Amino acid sequence: MEALLKHMVDITCQRDHALLDSSVASALHELVGAEQVRVHELFRFRNELFMRPRAWIRDGKVVSAGESAGEQAGESAADYPVLLECMRQRATSAEEVDATGRHTLWLPIWLNDKVSTCLQVIADRPYPVETRHMIEGILAVYRNFQNILDYSERDSLTGLLNRKTFDEKFSRMLAAAQPDNQQDRPERRCQQSGTVGHWLAVCDIDHFKRVNDQFGHLYGDEVLILVANLLRSSFRAQDRVFRFGGEEFVVLLRSTTLEDARKIFDRFRRNVEQHDFPQVGKVSVSVGFASISTESPVVILGHADQALYYAKANGRNQVCFYDELVQRGELRSEVSNDTVEFF
Ligand code: GH3
Ligand code: MG
Ligand code: MG
Repeated sequence: MEALLKHMVDITCQRDHALLDSSVASALHELVGAEQVRVHELFRFRNELFMRPRAWIRDGKVVSAGESAGEQAGESAADYPVLLECMRQRATSAEEVDATGRHTLWLPIWLNDKVSTCLQVIADRPYPVETRHMIEGILAVYRNFQNILDYSERDSLTGLLNRKTFDEKFSRMLAAAQPDNQQDRPERRCQQSGTVGHWLAVCDIDHFKRVNDQFGHLYGDEVLILVANLLRSSFRAQDRVFRFGGEEFVVLLRSTTLEDARKIFDRFRRNVEQHDFPQVGKVSVSVGFASISTESPVVILGHADQALYYAKANGRNQVCFYDELVQRGELRSEVSNDTVEFF
């Protein structure tokens, strides 16, 4: 009882998804006597369901993938038919026993009719009824807390991650997203278009004030929701999309070459351009992006912002890359004070 309470206190004091995952893995490992507990993220890619671990037990201790979880390719959920059948039936647990007598418990976490997290508990013996009850209780607390964390991290209109989350997580994401070779100057890396890097884009709806003025705020809000949906469908699960403010969004694109980053951002721009917005008709967006270098978060964001303002000042509905504008002499980087001037 004392141990259970200690774990409950530990789970409910977390304000961060990675720490919450770790504390639930630790609780199940110790209280259930499981030899392995994995907290998997479930995501769809090209209509196939994949899973990748966010937390697991190694040498009796919890290991967390942290922000680099998004870097893992993940394995196909098709390799786990018992889990798939469990989800098809909308059940909350399924047990399987392998040839060596190990018992695996699959525990998909249902939130708003969707599963994006699944726990896998492995033990060398069956789970007694009391143990199953305890697991159910721990999972209910975990699910409620995920819900609360999700709510505080997201923007209520679009459901995208909010500005507060960006501010809190960007530095951490930067640390996890740093390219292996950091001795290279970022400018040089970017010129090598085949080199994999990480990119930050600021996207802003063009002439959005006109939408509000002409059609009213409700239609304006609907445009924001539809653009958010286009953002979600245009980027991969390991990328991160934030609503930064009013009609401004920030995208963090991971592990991509410059050439592909440009194509991906432009594909999003085209998706918006080609979409028919009810009543409003056509809408466009401008995008400025910069490489995620060893510079500080403020400087990287400033670079993307400068590229966005260049896109706005030069016709809108286009994607501009900061380093390229500097190289072409369209923007000048003021090394002394990190500000940039337009010519
Ligand atoms: P530009 O192409 O230069 O970006 O022009 P713009 O009109 O989009 O830019 P501006 O920054 O002048 O206007 C942004 C507008 O976005 C003003 C504000 O009323 C509106 N806005 C901000 N947040 C919301 C919101 O949550 N809902 C709605 N409907 N409008 C919003
Ligand atoms: Mg705008
Ligand atoms: Mg704006």
